[in-house]
Amino acid sequence: METWEKVRALRERDKATTEERWGKNAHFRNDNNVFKGLLICDDCGSKLTRHRCVSDCGSVVYNYICPVRANNLDMSCTHKNVRSKDLHELVYQAVSQKIEQSVELERLLERMGKNNGGTKDKINTQIAEMHRKIGHISELRATLFDAYVDKLLDETEYVEMKSKYEADANKHRERLEALQAKVLLQDQTLTPQNKWLTAIRAFKDTHEVTREMAVVLIEKIIVSGYNSMEIIWNFKDDLAAIEEYTKEAV
Ligand SMILES: [Zn+2]
Repeated sequence: METWEKVRALRERDKATTEERWGKNAHFRNDNNVFKGLLICDDCGSKLTRHRCVSDCGSVVYNYICPVRANNLDMSCTHKNVRSKDLHELVYQAVSQKIEQSVELERLLERMGKNNGGTKDKINTQIAEMHRKIGHISELRATLFDAYVDKLLDETEYVEMKSKYEADANKHRERLEALQAKVLLQDQTLTPQNKWLTAIRAFKDTHEVTREMAVVLIEKIIVSGYNSMEIIWNFKDDLAAIEEYTKEAV
């Protein structure tokens, strides 16, 4: 066989192997890119992109890599990649723990909710009291003005009293706002209808990380090294509020 024929034969064989490899893994080709846009490089802040690698034995591996690093655009970005398979496992473990925690938190909230009627009544009584005090100060100010017009007070006395009433009214208004915020927290956040609990509840029976799960639950994943990452959850303030609140009940 002529040399060039041997080369052609080798090329044909290689092509066939590659095609066979690709064919065998065709179902992976459009594999759902579950973490698309969610992984952030801790070095340079870029979004990691997914790369498909086919090994010599034909198995397909997906890796998420920082594009800055991958293209050697900036050598100060030192991060290695994250294997998609490991990422799925790590995130699934983290979500499972969060699901367990949310079940416990719901149980606590329900228990606390039953004893909570008294707390709400107390806050509402305080709110009514603040409205009453603010109303009373308005009346006093009107009376004060009349007294000034009738020359029962001189100007210095009038200004002094007026600013005292204003300061009192402001203090009561601030207190009123704080109480109203407390009511909102009780009604919207410290209940099983809490945004985080509602979001994660939908995935209780999901046995793998899906795109929907990732997008709903995860704000971003900061990658700081090979398979080393921190998950930043969505609705983290809502979760922090119930964690803080239920501490009292544990
Ligand atoms: Zn980077």
